Amino acid sequence: MAALPKKDVVIVGYGAAAGPVSLELAAAGYSVVVLERGPHLTTERDFQTGSFDSLRWAVRQEMVPGADIMPLTFRNRADQVAIPAPYRMASAVGGSSIHWSGQSWRFYEDDFRLRSTLAAAYGKSGLAYHLAADGAALADWPLAYRELEPFYDKVEYHIGIGGWPGNIAGAIRPLRSDEGNPFEAPRQRDYPFRPLRDNATDLVFRGAALALGLKPFHVPTAITTEDWTSPYGISRNACTYCSYCMNYGCWNGSKGSSLVALLPAALKSGNFELRANAHVLRVNHRNGRAVSVTYIDGEGREQEQRGDIFILAAYSFQNVRLLLHSGIDGNGQVGKYFINRPEFHVSATFDDRYLNGYAGPSVQRQAIDDFNGENAAEEKLRLGPDRFFVRGAAICSASQRLPLETYNDVPPDVPRWGAGYKAYLSKYLNRYLRVLAIAEPMPYEDCFIDLDPTHKDKYGVPAARVTRAVKTNELRMCRFIYDKIAALYRAAGAAKIWGRRDAIAVASMVHDCGGLRMGVEPDSSATNRYGQLWTMPNLFVAGGALMPTMSGHNPTETIWALSYWQSAAILEKKLDLTDARRV
Ligand SMILES: Cc1cc2nc3c(=O)[nH]c(=O)nc-3n(C[C@H](O)[C@H](O)[C@H](O)COP(=O)(O)OP(=O)(O)OC[C@H]3O[C@@H](n4cnc5c(N)ncnc54)[C@H](O)[C@@H]3O)c2cc1C
Ligand code: SF4
Repeated sequence: MAALPKKDVVIVGYGAAAGPVSLELAAAGYSVVVLERGPHLTTERDFQTGSFDSLRWAVRQEMVPGADIMPLTFRNRADQVAIPAPYRMASAVGGSSIHWSGQSWRFYEDDFRLRSTLAAAYGKSGLAYHLAADGAALADWPLAYRELEPFYDKVEYHIGIGGWPGNIAGAIRPLRSDEGNPFEAPRQRDYPFRPLRDNATDLVFRGAALALGLKPFHVPTAITTEDWTSPYGISRNACTYCSYCMNYGCWNGSKGSSLVALLPAALKSGNFELRANAHVLRVNHRNGRAVSVTYIDGEGREQEQRGDIFILAAYSFQNVRLLLHSGIDGNGQVGKYFINRPEFHVSATFDDRYLNGYAGPSVQRQAIDDFNGENAAEEKLRLGPDRFFVRGAAICSASQRLPLETYNDVPPDVPRWGAGYKAYLSKYLNRYLRVLAIAEPMPYEDCFIDLDPTHKDKYGVPAARVTRAVKTNELRMCRFIYDKIAALYRAAGAAKIWGRRDAIAVASMVHDCGGLRMGVEPDSSATNRYGQLWTMPNLFVAGGALMPTMSGHNPTETIWALSYWQSAAILEKKLDLTDARRV
């Protein structure tokens, strides 16, 4: 079949990462085509009537493709044979920004310079020796927080993030003394609207945190809490606190996603073409330049789309997989330094009160950052060499504990079926609380993504294979955080507390970053600071794969900010599409 007419920009995947860059380039006059393998679901047709179905969206995960489409395999070490692992990301126009929770915050300033921060704090002490022994591959980002700040601001004001500010230009908790995260990095102005209100689980968490002398705050969220119109002219309703939120498309258009907050503006530009059900198989290249992508369209036909600039925005696993399958691994950096969080939560029941944790969206949350980043540095030093760890975690209460999503989180001494199980549910289903930790993981030399030699998708493309283990730092961190959460529960008067104190690694924790690290040198990174591949300068990567290190905060606001940052670099012509070193 003849190749389709050439476009200025060809984007693979339309999730969070593709949203800003595709809109900004189209609005500036570039002809943009987006090839998204999933269907174009809409609020009106698919979510307004179909959303309130836990079996469909949360249990059977109807938006998440199966192993015949997105195979993923997992092992802890390179000498093991990987086994199939669940893929957890949505495939639809909007990607996982449709069914995500919406917890939306910035990274810390020192998240952008982790290597220097840790070297300055612990370099001489030898205390962080366990990191070196485990092969930690620490790095500083090739950009500083202050460079990304205007783009964080753009995310908050254009996509719509609600919160209380914790730090406006250095003034801590400037508006009310008890709201906002006092540890956050400085922002230039307030949020455009306030966060979600508190429910009973939040008040219990908040009360316990205050009783322990900690500094609780409202989690910022990409959910409109009032009727709101963005600068793109897109109006969204105030959230109704319906509870069918994480894992579901929002029936009311309140939850921010590339689908509802960006796509309508992109389509209005007149330069933006969306092709849903277009599954990209490979990037075709000649003489060090990408020339086209081959994809299977909605009718099952193979198509070829030519372009000048290509942007892979298909999520970390698929970006790496597409590059390796296309034979693009010029400098041996593709797939290296994969980072994801350990799975971590702690639950509790209360005898003396109802919490009704089913009510409200998952991100109706209070949080503390007292043990995140370098905030508890003194306390960690006092742990001594056998328990010392670096960095930490945000700790938050979680709502939306709907019956079909909660039924199997029961204390270890409760039977999993029969009369004992029923008695437990009748008494405790509404007296139950879950607390989550967003634990910051480190990159390691031996944690990476490559192609599985055995498992393939239905088109014959090898599966993404993840090699990842929990290391000493993550184990020590999670034990410490478990004890902090248990202390919160005790302060709140919990009857029973349970969870896994030892973190475990899984293939996908939905915050799956790294794999295509950006940097300043081609010998230690896959792309330059704008996500431009060192070895193929007209091919860009967008998304969390670029992150050299992570954070104790969720990644998507940073993914959106990076995407705006990339579009500005392309538009301001800071880039040379023939040489990625010229930036
Ligand atoms: C249940 C859940 C809750 C979450 N909650 C939060 C939260 O509260 N806060 C937070 O910060 N983050 C959260 N996340 C993570 C967040 O969703 C991701 O960080 C974000 O969606 C990543 O953006 P992305 O564009 O890189 O990938 P995605 O959003 O996954 O988009 C990638 C798109 O590429 C498409 N694609 C893949 N391969 C191909 C191909 N070969 N051809 C064409 N298209 C392709 C996919 O179909 C998909 O639509 C959550 C994720 C999940 C699953
Ligand atoms: S809780 Fe609010 S944001 Fe979430 S799905 Fe319901 S209306 Fe939408």
